[in-house]
Amino acid sequence: MLAPYAVRVDDSRGRRHPEPPHPYRNDYQRDRDRVVHARAFRRLEAKTQVFSRRYSDHFRNRLTHTIEVTQIARTIAGQLGLNVDLVEALALVHDVGHPPFGHAGERALDAAMRQHGHFFDHNLHALRIVEDFEMRYAAFRGLNLTFEIREGIIKHSHDYSATEHPELAEYLLDQHPPLEAQLIDLADEIAYNTADLDDGFEAHLITLPMIRKNLPVFEAFFREVEALYPNTPEKLKFNEALKRVLNRFVTGLIEGTNANLQQANIQSADDVRRHPQRLVVFPKGIDVDRLACKKFLHTNLYFSKALEPEKEEAELVIRELFAHWIRRPSDLPTAYREKTKEEPLPRVICDYIAGMTDHFILEQHKKFS
Ligand code: MG
Repeated sequence: MLAPYAVRVDDSRGRRHPEPPHPYRNDYQRDRDRVVHARAFRRLEAKTQVFSRRYSDHFRNRLTHTIEVTQIARTIAGQLGLNVDLVEALALVHDVGHPPFGHAGERALDAAMRQHGHFFDHNLHALRIVEDFEMRYAAFRGLNLTFEIREGIIKHSHDYSATEHPELAEYLLDQHPPLEAQLIDLADEIAYNTADLDDGFEAHLITLPMIRKNLPVFEAFFREVEALYPNTPEKLKFNEALKRVLNRFVTGLIEGTNANLQQANIQSADDVRRHPQRLVVFPKGIDVDRLACKKFLHTNLYFSKALEPEKEEAELVIRELFAHWIRRPSDLPTAYREKTKEEPLPRVICDYIAGMTDHFILEQHKKFS
């Protein structure tokens, strides 16, 4: 049963190239399946989320992170009466625009582009992937996704200004995205906040005393678990506490959003679009915990000394390869050389690099340096 403010697939603004309906899958289900079958989606497996393969094979990569976001987003969407098919498609596609080497890679690619008067943005890149780079159909380029998926790719985590991005005018930049898209950004945060605590703890980069001291929400649950299971190994107590933290964030997001929808008297998907603020929110108390988590991970994990050498290597690899292809465009593969006839060379190089997996870019770097 869909809530009155959910997006209905029958109200979709549709695809760029009209297609006959499928006998038993609706358009958002088909879009979800198209994303899963895309090459860019499969490459997520070999892209760093936070930890490279050097650390461990069971830490999250971009693909397993994406699956966790999807699971969390589905649960929340179901409880809010939103369109779960749309949410699932949006969650699965939300990170396909990320370059290799996680955020270090993204920063380096953006820096290289800025030297030539351009920039790199992973949401805009994701749109280029689904609109242009994926080649699966004889009748058109790209995946021909419905409007709501493309809109969600652009708007789930960022408000682009219509004056700075006239090319995005069709995505109704003066309106907020539907709840289904708003939800992705916070489901993403719930997923990485908890997963990065998990992997960071397992990697011994953050310790139990550090987490207990800095995160009151974790500490409260950890005490509860200690009272329940006094003789259990520490790692299992950690797991028990962490799953309670995840549950607290998910429940909080459902409750905060429900309360917000009622208070704002939201009756339709159109009300959501026209409301002055985004409506998917955590209640105030839980938002404090979420921000504490984020800050803790920034200081003690993402910007830790331990991860620095790897980030520096990532930046070097991207910087040097980018510069190499600027100097020697003839070293690009034929398809990309062809593209330089239509697009500026830095953009073509950027598209090539952004699509690479961690090990492919390292191979390229070895080959050309
Ligand atoms: Mg993500």
